[in-house]
Amino acid sequence: MLRLQAILSCLAICLGGLAQDSLLITNVRIFNGITPELKAGNVLVVGGTIAQVGVGINPTRGTAVIDGSGRTLMPGLIDAHAHITLAAIPMLAAMTAPTSYVHHVSGKEAEATLLRGFTTIRDVGGPTHGLKMAIDQGLLKGPRIYPSGAMITQSGGHGDFRMPHEIAAPCCASPVLIEKEGIAMIADGPDAVRQRVREQLALGASQIKLMAGGGVSSLYDPLDVTQYTPEEFLVAVEAAENWGTYVTVHAYTPRAIRFAIENGVKCIEHGQLADEEVVKLMAAKGVWWSLQPFLDDEHANPKTGESRKKQLQVSEGTDRAYALAKKHKVKTAWGTDVMHSPNGGAHQGAQLVKMTRWYTPFEVLKMATADNGELMKLSGPRDPYPAKLGVIDAGAWADLLLVNGDPLRNLELLADPERNLVVIIKNGKVVKDIR
Ligand SMILES: [Zn+2]
Repeated sequence: MLRLQAILSCLAICLGGLAQDSLLITNVRIFNGITPELKAGNVLVVGGTIAQVGVGINPTRGTAVIDGSGRTLMPGLIDAHAHITLAAIPMLAAMTAPTSYVHHVSGKEAEATLLRGFTTIRDVGGPTHGLKMAIDQGLLKGPRIYPSGAMITQSGGHGDFRMPHEIAAPCCASPVLIEKEGIAMIADGPDAVRQRVREQLALGASQIKLMAGGGVSSLYDPLDVTQYTPEEFLVAVEAAENWGTYVTVHAYTPRAIRFAIENGVKCIEHGQLADEEVVKLMAAKGVWWSLQPFLDDEHANPKTGESRKKQLQVSEGTDRAYALAKKHKVKTAWGTDVMHSPNGGAHQGAQLVKMTRWYTPFEVLKMATADNGELMKLSGPRDPYPAKLGVIDAGAWADLLLVNGDPLRNLELLADPERNLVVIIKNGKVVKDIR
């Protein structure tokens, strides 16, 4: 009897072993996300993660093999500031089209994002929970999503996209469109903020996004305004930390950034108008700076009128922001913030290449892989993908790109992912192979 049990359990283990797909990528020069040199070797993937990195790894029976032919293997890219459900749809359509249409557009954009080599995004506002679920279940192709869910905003804040007649709604009226769709939640006062934060956590947010100051695209708030009070930040941070995660905020000005940091916020989105003093505070507190290379160029989100003026003001701050981030060694993340721009996503790779204006190709690649991966891990126990991310190392997620050439020497390669990313692997599965 005991022997029979032993045989059965052995069978189970053996079959289990066979059931796990394995993939060996040979003959590649590896950029591991952390060190500035390429290292020749092989990478063995078992299931969704990397099992082994090194030389002399031999395929066992049933292991698929990809011959890299001397190309570069690097970790999948991470965009730390995305709005996947709002990225490719014009603002008017997002507000007026059937909800199902909005979500179909985002499903298509998610696949395009993955095929550009972005295997992970941190979504900082929008109704992504359903899309994430469909991608995680393999129903749709797309990146891993770290969702914030709805952005939490004060009345008149950067997330308040109500029409003026809706603002006059009596207290406790039924939710307005942006709330019903899960784009933004309006909350004024500590109790309301606490409740909104808890709701997003209940729905599966891996981090919480609050609006701490004026924004470019919003209707009511000039750039210079500060949003939320210390009390409101404190309850938001407490609710997020009670859930094991953190609050990140939209903020451009020194005052908005300072308010947020002094009340426990762990990450600043944008911050293009920061002054040296507040950057020193970010460095001293170890706060993350999630910066985007906003310039007045072809990659800018389409804007008109007052928003266009604000956009110019922000983009003028970008050079100084990167200089200050470097000078004070602030932990810096990279992201694009493509929003309401049908063709904006196509420039995702080019927006990374643009970073060579301030950094070496190695620094840029590290930022978009290992460094951004470290920021994802700030979600602690609320991390939906709890393994190493953005690196090629044993135990890390097998999110890998095989590049035609050496991006450490020629980052431009990543501006044309269609041609230069010959193999894309996410979660150990090949999603593109044009060798
Ligand atoms: Zn944004």
